[in-house]
Amino acid sequence: MSYTSPELRRFVSERAGGCCEYCRLSQLDSFLPFEIDHIIAEKHRGATAEDNLCLSCPSCNGYKGSDIASIDPDTESLTALYNPRTQRWDEHFQLREYTIEPLTAIGRVTVLTLRMNSTEQMEERRLLVTQGRYPCGAVE
Ligand SMILES: [Zn+2]
Repeated sequence: MSYTSPELRRFVSERAGGCCEYCRLSQLDSFLPFEIDHIIAEKHRGATAEDNLCLSCPSCNGYKGSDIASIDPDTESLTALYNPRTQRWDEHFQLREYTIEPLTAIGRVTVLTLRMNSTEQMEERRLLVTQGRYPCGAVE
């Protein structure tokens, strides 16, 4: 893995407002530190540069690993994962109570691959919503 400077890490974290750019959990509500994700993994020649990095919670980043695409269950087509730098969250996902519902094929493969609706995450979101702490960086 290539070196990500402290300055670049800080830039990516601040740009994201401290929010996981996939599941929209806040760093403030995570015991584990958030990670700097290579949207296109380095093994696929993704650069360690601002436009290929995003802030991710350990759960989303762990399940994503070096994946960049998956098979859409509805169409059986190879479909790229959501790219927080070039796409808008609310065009591919919507929140229905505590579930992140996909709106597109990209949304579907991302929710499935990153396992964004695990029982634990849903329970955590339920608690955070009641405290007005979820979603992080709400898009109005
Ligand atoms: Zn996440």
